[in-house]
Amino acid sequence: MRRTVGFLTVLASLFLVAPVANATHASTPHFTTNMFRIYYDNLTSLGVAAVTHARNNLNPTDVTTSQISSKTSPYIYVRDADYPDNFLGNSLCEVPSSSTSCLIYLIRLNSASNQLASVQSRWNKTACHEFGHTAGLGHRTTSGTCMVQGISTYWNFDQHDKDTINAGY
Ligand SMILES: [Zn+2]
Repeated sequence: MRRTVGFLTVLASLFLVAPVANATHASTPHFTTNMFRIYYDNLTSLGVAAVTHARNNLNPTDVTTSQISSKTSPYIYVRDADYPDNFLGNSLCEVPSSSTSCLIYLIRLNSASNQLASVQSRWNKTACHEFGHTAGLGHRTTSGTCMVQGISTYWNFDQHDKDTINAGY
């Protein structure tokens, strides 16, 4: 289902209020449209494969993904590099369009993480997780989904994740 956010956009520009957590788990700004335009220019092979993995998780939902060759808003920019902090990855809304949606997202996969190391499945899990945030998913505490925090052996969305994504678009 689509949401019309024009009026809310005006409200959100006045108040930086975190969205109210709902009964499920959508709690992060979701990319402004269900057409995920993904840009990257200098990813390692681990990063490229991880993005492909995440896209393969998103494409069966109401989200469709494409790779774009220049940064034309809206887009999701994926980088991997040796970041100073020991996080696995994160997603930052750089340009919000409202308190609940985002025009330009930055996803960072941390090559310096000694937990990610060079283990592709861990990169895949992390990319699934961060793209899940860009689709509006928050964290899960039950196993069986990439939306749990940290290293895990689950590197895909579960049905609940997919249902939540579909409900948000
Ligand atoms: Zn997270």
